[in-house]
Amino acid sequence: MENKCPLCQQKEYIQNTSKKSYSDFHIILECPLCGTIHIDTDYLRYLQKNPDTEAENRHIFSAYYRECKNLNIKPITLDSENTDKILTSHLIPDKNDIRAKALKLLQELRRNSKNIGDTIRLCPDEWTTAIYAKEWNEMIFILNYCIDKEYIYGSKQKPNDTINISDYILAPLGYEYLAGTNTISKNIFVAMEYSDEMFKIFNSIKKSVKDKTGFDLFIIADKEHNNDITDEIIAEINRSRAIIADFSHNNNGAYYEAGYAHGLGKEVIFTCKSDKIKDVHFDTSHRNHILWANEKDLEKSLTNRINATLNKTS
Ligand SMILES: [Zn+2]
Repeated sequence: MENKCPLCQQKEYIQNTSKKSYSDFHIILECPLCGTIHIDTDYLRYLQKNPDTEAENRHIFSAYYRECKNLNIKPITLDSENTDKILTSHLIPDKNDIRAKALKLLQELRRNSKNIGDTIRLCPDEWTTAIYAKEWNEMIFILNYCIDKEYIYGSKQKPNDTINISDYILAPLGYEYLAGTNTISKNIFVAMEYSDEMFKIFNSIKKSVKDKTGFDLFIIADKEHNNDITDEIIAEINRSRAIIADFSHNNNGAYYEAGYAHGLGKEVIFTCKSDKIKDVHFDTSHRNHILWANEKDLEKSLTNRINATLNKTS
């Protein structure tokens, strides 16, 4: 195969010329398994000529680009200098972290389920990539673990055996696990416009919200004053129990962060200044936004909402 994908080494890629390159050396490849790969042309040639180079990491790069595509996150470009940067991305689960890998598998199932209770046919390559594994065998272990935990309905597979193509359903406990009801995190990530005004408002209500709900509002430090969704933000959202997305300034960052958290099954609390709701994007305008006019309003409504949704005792 002339255009064999350098990462999964299984499928053929096509070069995507419709998207803008960052430089003469940067190209974009579309692989049916790995998604959208951003790679340096010299590095691509190097990987193609030396099939054993990065043999231990190619499947991780493959999974990384696939996940970035699924989450709509701009990936790091693969070149000889960026490999470590990619390998330490917060998206990538620890090699032996069975819970983190199980979570990836459940996310894959949910992405493929249009509705609760949908039956999903096992896709060995895709599921293996979804959990950042190199071999099917590892995916089978994780799949069996999820079935034992009753996160997934379906029949277990025998390790080291040929794969038995069968059907699986994301079970109620799987949905609950995805929704973070099993997590003990007491952090709520705040996605908002990173302006002095907004920092002041959220910082001023932080203590009172904590006293009344037990939850800490996590406001990213000043250095993150931009609208890019960075690895640090992803990591914080992953660690949080829920997120507050404020749309008063209609900024892209808040939309991305809300979408990402929603994709993880986390509770998203939408807020917006009452005189700005008319500017909110159609996709979120139908959500039940907390409308606020001042700090006091916001503090009161947030406290009520957090206690109603996250401090349920049932
Ligand atoms: Zn590939």
